[in-house]
Amino acid sequence: MSREITRRDFLNGFALAVGAALLPPHLRSFGLQAGPEQSPDYYPPTLTGLRGSHPGSFEVAHSLRDGTFWESAGKPESTGEVYDLVVVGGGISGLSAAHYFRKAAGPKARVLILDNHDDFGGHAKRNEFQAGNRRLLGFGGTFSIESPAPYSAVAKGLIEELGIDVSSYSKYVNKDLYRSFGLSPKIFFDKETFGVDALATNPMPRIGGENETERAQAHAVDSFLNEAPLSEQAKADYVRLVVDKNDYLPGLSSDEKKARLARMSYNTFLADLVKVGPELVKLFQAVPQSLFGVGFDAVAAQDAWGLGAPGFRGMNLNPAPGKGMNRDAVPNEEAERYFFHFPDGNASIARLLVRRLIPEAMPGASSQDVVTARANYAKLDQGSSAVRIRLNSTAVRVRHEGDPASAKEVEITYARAGKVHSVRAAHCILACWHVVIPYICDELPEKQKDALASAAKVPLLYTNVALRNWKAFQKLGANAIYAPGGYHSYTNLDLPVSIGGYECSRQPEEPIVVHMMKTPCKPGRPARDQHRIGRMELFNTTFETIERNIRDQLARTLGPGGFDPARDITAITANRWPHGYSYEYNSLWDKFWLEGGETPCEVARQPFGRIAIANADAGAYAYTDGAIDQAYRAVGEIIKT
Ligand SMILES: Cc1cc2nc3c(=O)[nH]c(=O)nc-3n(C[C@H](O)[C@H](O)[C@H](O)COP(=O)(O)OP(=O)(O)OC[C@H]3O[C@@H](n4cnc5c(N)ncnc54)[C@H](O)[C@@H]3O)c2cc1C
Repeated sequence: MSREITRRDFLNGFALAVGAALLPPHLRSFGLQAGPEQSPDYYPPTLTGLRGSHPGSFEVAHSLRDGTFWESAGKPESTGEVYDLVVVGGGISGLSAAHYFRKAAGPKARVLILDNHDDFGGHAKRNEFQAGNRRLLGFGGTFSIESPAPYSAVAKGLIEELGIDVSSYSKYVNKDLYRSFGLSPKIFFDKETFGVDALATNPMPRIGGENETERAQAHAVDSFLNEAPLSEQAKADYVRLVVDKNDYLPGLSSDEKKARLARMSYNTFLADLVKVGPELVKLFQAVPQSLFGVGFDAVAAQDAWGLGAPGFRGMNLNPAPGKGMNRDAVPNEEAERYFFHFPDGNASIARLLVRRLIPEAMPGASSQDVVTARANYAKLDQGSSAVRIRLNSTAVRVRHEGDPASAKEVEITYARAGKVHSVRAAHCILACWHVVIPYICDELPEKQKDALASAAKVPLLYTNVALRNWKAFQKLGANAIYAPGGYHSYTNLDLPVSIGGYECSRQPEEPIVVHMMKTPCKPGRPARDQHRIGRMELFNTTFETIERNIRDQLARTLGPGGFDPARDITAITANRWPHGYSYEYNSLWDKFWLEGGETPCEVARQPFGRIAIANADAGAYAYTDGAIDQAYRAVGEIIKT
């Protein structure tokens, strides 16, 4: 413990040993040998404060990265367990892999899933709050079943097998609830960025707003122009941008224009081609953060066109997708219709998968009753069960027993509660984050390790704030607030979904969960640099700082509606995801994406001996269906061996 700590900047003040003392208090108090999960009080969804990649989940992996883990780790002790399959990573990809493997190998196949977090589901994270005798649910990560491209037959098949009828969504969502109270999307202009704190109508229909009728949209534009604290010049720029049918690249064919737009950011397009002033650039800047984790300084103008950003009406661009477009920016009606939101987001998918794998751990029988089911964490890792999920366990080494070409087994070593254990398995699927794999699987070819390492993820902060009521939102007529200069860029009232005995908040006097989203990017730099710097920022930000910023932002935004943070906020869960979305390729920096050729994810996901590689990273696609598709492929590969 007295050893000098290097690279402190990554560590948020945590020391780099695997000792029990470093466990977060909620795990420490359970006693380590019995396994904290065995306690009836063990129920991570209700924990508040810093969640997502919570303290206690990442220290071991970071010490591996820094090359210090094995200095302080004891000799691995074999548990004596032998499995047909060990899956590293208990997110949707890992859980799906276990599911597909059992379908292929039979229900008696023995499977162990390891995850470093205190809960299963990976990014599909459930948050619960208690408001009096009412339970409120929130999503701590994955929000919904949605994808820019249609779900594959495989991914759709799994959703159906889990009993989710996506077409029934309209039965559960109260689509008109907020509209019936006169609420609509707003923009919060902050004084640091725009000179004054002010709330104005959000006129952007598709990007950052809701789909509206043309009349409502025209009305929204009118209100925006009246209310926004922008200069007359900026308002004139806005009207010109939205209304004009100028061709800003005259004399070029549609393909030539798209090729140019793919290589310039939307901010450059706005400033240099449309020649709007800096106020409008600042206004639009944060809009795409929820999709890409960066603003329009790092999103190609071609992608902005695909997303429906203004300025392209007179450009005569062929509506077919252009070369190098990000899949999020390619509109697809079939995909847009395929949408389903559970109150805890896609944590319900993870919970349904767990029910399939270990029925005793998740009471109930339908995709509706899973919403209120209380998971029994004590049942996740039972010797009597063919499938076991071992939480709070970080895989630290995965290697074949002998020559990978002929080995019959893989040894998987993991750290849990300060000790290092090993198990053996006929196969291993690495469904964890790709950047971790080179540190735990040394025997992979160097080229593959480089490709895996290049998949550094997009950092995100998904914060859930439980409020006593939403009267201030009602008074201000706001249900979704875009804050281009805010600490959190988006603040949304919970999507009103009632399902399986769970009732959403229907009256402004009732408690509710408000969802806030931040991407800690650094505009002006290449996307990957922005993500790297943002990841460090998230690691180094304390909960107290996040909380102070939430209180400040909500007070300034909602104060004129009577909001008092001290009185109205009842709990905060900040889901910190320094390793968030899978990195998706970007035509501004990833040449292969624009010009063709092998992509890093294709190199990264090659099977190696008895090891296959899953995770959404394997498709460079930050969606649930990607995680499922990659699990299916990985299982197919090991079944072949
Ligand atoms: C904040 C957020 C919101 C999102 N919203 C949506 C959405 O609305 N819709 C959608 O379709 N997709 C969404 N996505 C993307 C979607 O969540 C992911 O594509 C998908 O859930 C990823 O699943 P996965 O299993 O591949 O990875 P993960 O969920 O990341 O699971 C991998 C697991 O492996 C664990 N792990 C890593 N290293 C080790 C190790 N050494 N030992 C043990 N375990 C390890 C990780 O901690 C993690 O728990 C969102 C992602 C984020 C981050």
